[in-house]
Amino acid sequence: MGPGECLLCKSKMREGTTEFVARVGEQVAVIKNIPAFVCPNCDEAYYTIDTQRKIDRIMLAFNEGSLTPGPGDLVDCSR
Ligand SMILES: [Zn+2]
Repeated sequence: MGPGECLLCKSKMREGTTEFVARVGEQVAVIKNIPAFVCPNCDEAYYTIDTQRKIDRIMLAFNEGSLTPGPGDLVDCSR
């Protein structure tokens, strides 16, 4: 799957990385280095299905309490 057009502004998407801030109750974790296609015009980020699943797994672990990062801790998605 290659980068297509941004759904919002129709610019050509670029390959890059983005961050995702996850909140569960009082806890906040930042998932960084997420591979994504990023719109250079409006900064919209699109994930592949595989990346979405990876984020879902991290979020699930976070929700279940098996992943307990401190406030503002970083979870590296590229690992
Ligand atoms: Zn855009």
